[in-house]
Amino acid sequence: MAKGGKSAAASTSAPPPPAQKKKKPKPGLDIEGYHVEGVSVAGQETCVIVPALKLAFDIGRCLPFAVSQEFLFLSHAHADHVGCLPLYVAMRSRRNMSPPTVFVPASLADLVRKLFDVHRAMDQSEFPHKLVPLDVGEECEFGNGLRVKAFRTYHVVPSQGYVIYKMKTKLKQEYVGLPGSEIKKLRESGVEMTDTVATPEIAFTGDTMSDFILDPDNADVLKAKILVMESTYVDDKMTIEQAREKGHTHLSEITSLADKLENKAILLIHFSNRYTTEEIDEAIDRLPPSFGSRVYALKEGFDSKT
Ligand SMILES: [Zn+2]
Ligand SMILES: [Zn+2]
Repeated sequence: MAKGGKSAAASTSAPPPPAQKKKKPKPGLDIEGYHVEGVSVAGQETCVIVPALKLAFDIGRCLPFAVSQEFLFLSHAHADHVGCLPLYVAMRSRRNMSPPTVFVPASLADLVRKLFDVHRAMDQSEFPHKLVPLDVGEECEFGNGLRVKAFRTYHVVPSQGYVIYKMKTKLKQEYVGLPGSEIKKLRESGVEMTDTVATPEIAFTGDTMSDFILDPDNADVLKAKILVMESTYVDDKMTIEQAREKGHTHLSEITSLADKLENKAILLIHFSNRYTTEEIDEAIDRLPPSFGSRVYALKEGFDSKT
């Protein structure tokens, strides 16, 4: 009988194994011990998440994985960065998840409250969330041993970035090397033996000109393990001047300021949709190797030439 033909015997034999589904590559990037996912296309959508810290930066698109994040940090109010804020809050509520904590630039807090008032009236539901206004330079503890500090960025509307710190307690230098029994005794007698150390883990700029790199108040931003920063334009299709007119950064500016970036990794986001994935890769390949080896690109949502 021809291969694949029907026969009475075929009905008693074992069913064929189910067709193997092609495994999709895992989205996102693994950088310096963190898994980072997201989509960021200039003028269309930006949302970057770090699941290990349960946080999302900006919510220009309500990606399914963003809804699972408990903490949201908004850099500025352009629609491609905040457009899905009400939906994010509503979806967490509908799924019986805890109300999220939403950090916003202090100057936007009243407008965000009004935005939710309008949505409550239209949707006739509660939109439960905690709003935390933060000014540039202000800090706030959140989550499990984390702290955030807002930093100044330079865009065409009020904006700020965020540095996320991990807080760790460390034995004070003067007690290092003491035997355990001695330490226990001192601790029991009420001596304060530890210092709290904050290490900058991740910094997120949102939209900004490269000027934030030169701001002396932003030293920790340049020391964070991972710097997530915009690089809207990457080649000579657009000039530095054109980037600055729009409040954005050109990759060539980042390259010329690279010696100021002490970060272990720099994740570039917010490319213009005029670029293909190949053009983004080519631009990064042109970077000096000493710098390029630390640079990653979020290319989710970009078309390939082919
Ligand atoms: Zn943008
Ligand atoms: Zn913007």
